[in-house]
Parts: sequence; C-alpha cells; structure tokens
Amino acid sequence: MIVCKFGGSSVADADQIRKVQSILSADERRQVAVVSAPGKRNKDDDKITDLLYQCNDLVRKGQSCRQVFNVIARRFSEIARALGVEEKDFAGKLDEIRYQIDAGKGADYAASRGEYLSAYIISKFLKWEFIDAADVIVINSDSTVNEATYQRLAERLEKGKRYVIPGFYGETEQGVLKTFTRGGSDITGAIVSRALSAELYENWTDVSGIFRADPRIVENAKVISSMSYKEVRELADVGASVFHEEAIAPIYHLGIPINIKNTNKPEDKGTMILPESSAKGLSGVSVRTGLSMIKLRKLMLFKKSGMRHALLTMLHIFGIRPCYSLFGIDSIVWFFESKMASDSVCSSMCERLKTEYKLDSISVEHGYAVMGITGTSEAMGKGCLDAITALCKKGIEVVSVNQGASDTSVLIGIREKDAKEALAAVYEKLFG
Ligand code: ASP
Repeated sequence: MIVCKFGGSSVADADQIRKVQSILSADERRQVAVVSAPGKRNKDDDKITDLLYQCNDLVRKGQSCRQVFNVIARRFSEIARALGVEEKDFAGKLDEIRYQIDAGKGADYAASRGEYLSAYIISKFLKWEFIDAADVIVINSDSTVNEATYQRLAERLEKGKRYVIPGFYGETEQGVLKTFTRGGSDITGAIVSRALSAELYENWTDVSGIFRADPRIVENAKVISSMSYKEVRELADVGASVFHEEAIAPIYHLGIPINIKNTNKPEDKGTMILPESSAKGLSGVSVRTGLSMIKLRKLMLFKKSGMRHALLTMLHIFGIRPCYSLFGIDSIVWFFESKMASDSVCSSMCERLKTEYKLDSISVEHGYAVMGITGTSEAMGKGCLDAITALCKKGIEVVSVNQGASDTSVLIGIREKDAKEALAAVYEKLFG
C-alpha cells in the first residue's frame, strides 16, 4: 500500500482537492492520505497556518482575533461548500475552535486546527474515514516522535481500509496538543508509512521534485531524479525546503522509498528518495542564509579537557545552538542562526565567556551564509574544488570550508550578501 501526504498548496482550495481525489483514485494502493492545512492559492495569499498563529498572537496580546479568524472560517466554509460537504456540523467546529483560541489554549492548539479542519473536510468529501492525529500520534517535549505512536496506530488502522489523517500535530503523553516544527506534515506522513510498512511514501507538492538548486534563484535548475536519505537531509539542512529533514527518521530503518510528486502534474516522475541512491555524482546545491559567526581564540584552548563542552554549555545558556562548527589548534568557529540571539545577548555572552575562560579574543559577526553541496562520496572532492574555483572566479570570498565531516556533503561558508550570486555560479559550474 501507498501513503500519500498532500502539502498546503495541494489542498489550498476545492479545485486542488479534486485533483487530490483523482490522484487517489488512480491507484487503489493509495489508501491513506495525510493532509496539510490549506496553503497559498497565489503568491499574495495567506497560509491558513500563518493566520492561526496570528490569531493566537492577538489573543496573547489581549486583542480580538475575530477579524483574522473570520478570514480562516470563510476560507474553510468556501472549500466545504464547493465540495458539497455538509456545513451544519462544520459551523459548530469553527465556533468551538474560535472559543478555544480566545480562551488562550495556545499556539500549538491554534496552529493544529488548520490540519484538523482540512482533514475533516477532505475525509467527508472522499468518504474515507477521518482519524484525529491527537488520538494516534504521540509527540515528546523535544518534538520527536514517541514510540507509543506506533502501538496506537497499529491498534487503530485496519489493513485495506482508507483513511484521512491530519498532518503536523499529535498529543503529548500528558494529553496536550502539540505540533511538530513548521512543515511537519511530512513527518506525520513518514510515521504513518512506517506504521503500515508502506511500499511507498508519496509526498505530493506543487513542484515536480527536488531541484538541484532553488529555481527561484537558478531559473533553469533541473529536478533531481534520485537521491539518498542522507543527501536529502543534508540538502534540507542547508535550506532546500521541499521535504522536512526530520521526516527521514521514522522510516530510516525500514528503507521505505519516498517519491516527491507534483499534484498539478501527476504524470511527472518527481524525485525518488531511497536509502541509498544508485545515482552517481553530485545531486544538488543550496544556501542557508541568516547566520552569524562566533570566533574565539585562546592559546592552548584544547589543553584543558572538557573545554569545548563547557563553552557549548555557556552558549546554550544564552539560547544559542550552533549549527556548524570548525576547530583549529587554538580556535573555534561556530555558525548559528542570527535570530537566536539579539546584539545585547551576544555581547553579554562574549563578555562572560571572555572573563570566565580567559579567552584571548571572541567576536560575533552577522551576515553569513553556508552553502551545501550534496552527492556521492566519490564526487565530493572534485565537487568541492570546482565550487571553490567558481566562487573565486566571481571574486566571492570563501569564509570556511568543511569537507569530510559527512562523506555526502561539503559545506562552504560565505557572506550572506553573496548568497544568490554564489548559488548561480556554483550551479553553473557543477550542473550547467
Ligand atoms: N501547515 C503546517 C505549516 O505550514 C505544517 C505543514 O504544512 O506541513 O508549517
């Protein structure tokens, strides 16, 4: 059997949901649909999830969310009406949700209602059974999947039956609604695929697969036909946003293949993500922007054991979790997301580290980006060299290079201002 996950653009309105129906009925192995909340219908439109977060923010500030909630309610009512779904019990659900958001039930509750209502309407339309994710998906406080989930799903799902399940949320062991991080319906799809030992996990979106580079920057970027689990996680980590990097974990040990497909062009083959890819060479390049860099130096820094750990603990106390690291004999460089700490937090942290650990120097600089190139290990050395050559030719400064930490990727630090030009230049050199 096949588990299908449909993203926000695939369920953005009634016409899109009709496409979902025809995709599901084209192959009877497609027995479970995991759905997102309605996404944007055009580039100026709002995502329902964003509006729900907005409602919660307004309530927290003591303001009314009526106006924003009405936009949400209107959107769902329109979809339900156009699909011929009974509006009577549906209106009651909207009232209840509005009441709970107003009562301060919190961000996770509010955000989860987009997927809940979307799945509810789609299940009525398809006449497939609705399963509330809160009854089957158990999420730990650190947003990882609790193993009890698989027991619950095994008890709830009957082989051969057809179900619609909302993505993105579940409940904690204490019974409190909790969401995954943004884009988390991909994780729900993977969980259900594992629970049912699916032969395939289809992930339906609005593009025909994962591109070798962001097509908004590199217009002629090609689609990757096949890549490995490892590569997709690495490409997602450096900013490629088609598939959530945490969605590999649930199916990792079963080796279930994932196919990224286009709801608007179902005939396109899309990208196959496999435990190991048979494709040789480099697969893609992406750039993660919005990074800052901590640089610290002290003679004989590593002489004292446990130093790195102590420094990292201090960073954590100030709310900074580095995403990339580099170590020298007397120095460390850490990249972290700039939004993790304000300038005043950064300067207090530097002060404290400098005095407590008697550092020779420490600085935090903003405006960095990290470019990641993925592919098979054999291709990495030349890929790295070619990428650096392309950057140097354009006069783009290379701030750092990290090859070897993973055999399927290389990470190159650059200035954020150069991100677009760097991506275009490296794409051209590696794939053009
Ligand atoms: N609707 C949620 C979001 O916008 C989750 C998802 O679509 O996967 O992040």
